[in-house]
Amino acid sequence: MQTTNSRSYQFEIPRPHMAKVKSKDTGPELLLRSLLRDMGFRGYRIHFEKLPGRPDIVFTRRKRVIFVHGCFWHGHNCPAGSHRPKSNEEYWDAKLLRNVERDQKHLSEIIALGWQVLVVWECQLKNHEFVRKIITNFMR
Ligand SMILES: [Zn+2]
Repeated sequence: MQTTNSRSYQFEIPRPHMAKVKSKDTGPELLLRSLLRDMGFRGYRIHFEKLPGRPDIVFTRRKRVIFVHGCFWHGHNCPAGSHRPKSNEEYWDAKLLRNVERDQKHLSEIIALGWQVLVVWECQLKNHEFVRKIITNFMR
């Protein structure tokens, strides 16, 4: 009995905040952050909790938000984003569709709050020049 109680109790403890943040520091995001640093953009917030979807990068004074999206998880219209695992096709279709719908919802909510939003896709990050250009335009 003692064991069961302590187990179910432990199960309900939320995961520590820091662990969550760490898991979001993905390669593409770090790459974008280093490009921003090179371009001289500083002073942004990361994983900003006060906006829907906890945007990856937020310039609060300029009211600009950048999401870095992995092509697979966020359903990009590119080869990596169209890939599906071989098994459980229906499960993945439904799951990834939910992700896309959630992203859309967050984007419209942020825009409705008067912010400008840019989504940088993982596959675009292969071309640093291209990403620099879209960031320059976006931050103007
Ligand atoms: Zn892509």
